[in-house]
Amino acid sequence: MSRAYNFCAGPAALPESVLRQARDEMLDWHGTGMSVMEMSHRGDAFVSIAEAAEQDLRDLAGVPDDYAVLFMQGGASSQFATVPLNLLGEKNSADYVNTGIWSTKAIAEARRYGDINVAASSEASGFIEVPDQDQWHCNPEAAYLHYTPNETIGGLEFDFVPDTGNVPLVADMSSTILSRPLDVSRFDLIYAGAQKNIGPSGLVVVIVHKDLLGRARKETPTMMNYRVTADNASMYNTPATYSWYLAGLVFKWLKAQGGLTAMGEVNTRKARKLYDFIDRSDLYANPIRPRFRSWMNVPFTLADAALNTAFLEGAEARRLLNLKGHRSVGGMRASIYNAMPEAGVDALIEYMVTFEKERA
Ligand SMILES: *Cc1c(COP(=O)(O)O)cnc(C)c1O
Repeated sequence: MSRAYNFCAGPAALPESVLRQARDEMLDWHGTGMSVMEMSHRGDAFVSIAEAAEQDLRDLAGVPDDYAVLFMQGGASSQFATVPLNLLGEKNSADYVNTGIWSTKAIAEARRYGDINVAASSEASGFIEVPDQDQWHCNPEAAYLHYTPNETIGGLEFDFVPDTGNVPLVADMSSTILSRPLDVSRFDLIYAGAQKNIGPSGLVVVIVHKDLLGRARKETPTMMNYRVTADNASMYNTPATYSWYLAGLVFKWLKAQGGLTAMGEVNTRKARKLYDFIDRSDLYANPIRPRFRSWMNVPFTLADAALNTAFLEGAEARRLLNLKGHRSVGGMRASIYNAMPEAGVDALIEYMVTFEKERA
């Protein structure tokens, strides 16, 4: 049977050629007679895999030399604590922007460690827009400002990078990293759980300006300390070796696609097609202000929620999988990350057209 189009928000689809390569290398990586899973993380073979992955990510995203790239564990959610523990310092206060469920979770966790000021929130509008930066109430003395460029559940995405002056800017890019060109120098810390655009879940990639290393609180768990992680090349303990390897294959795949500029073009087309169709149809709707619609996660509702089950059953019969919306939002959500081919979006639209016609 052929592969389905998997619209899951995470863990999400991986490029088919990456999975095939992993399969081909499963039992014997490059003549070593070992699977990557069975290798010492300190041996030459794995160290070469790890270093190539880091270099490929640096090339793809143009990561400047004064930034460390860390391959950590515990997913993006562990960073909700790791960031304040490492960055609050003596200031002990930070600004957060609340644009949805993931921001809210990051804020709740950070509050366990310091004074958290919600500098702006679009909660009152039901998270259908990003608050204008003119209206943010930022603390110029904040240790950092944290925001979520793409809210994976709500489908809300910033179309600008906030300007925070001298206050370090921290971004949870889990669901949008590598979807288009990225100017790393505008950020001080970027983190991304791998399972959307990078690789298997559990791994979290952190890109951090070296000036921010060494500020962790005394009681910070060693495993969560950015300085320790950087000084040990992300191998203070046994890293998530297989996930790191797969991330490396994805980075090579992205380079072969033409890098982030090429991905940005495909991703623009994919998102535009789907939103244009939704806006033209009478059956489907998306609530987000057009300017802030996510390129990666497209939630939509059906005019009659009683049709949801039939819609999902019909989709599954066509092997269009995991279109059910997040339990907190309802409706549908199509996640169209890098690994979703344009043909998958076309197949989804074709199905949506047919489903609508049959009910008109
Ligand atoms: C998926 C996601 C998370 C949580 O990632 P885990 O790896 O499950 O901890 C956090 N933030 C954003 C924006 C996400 O999309």
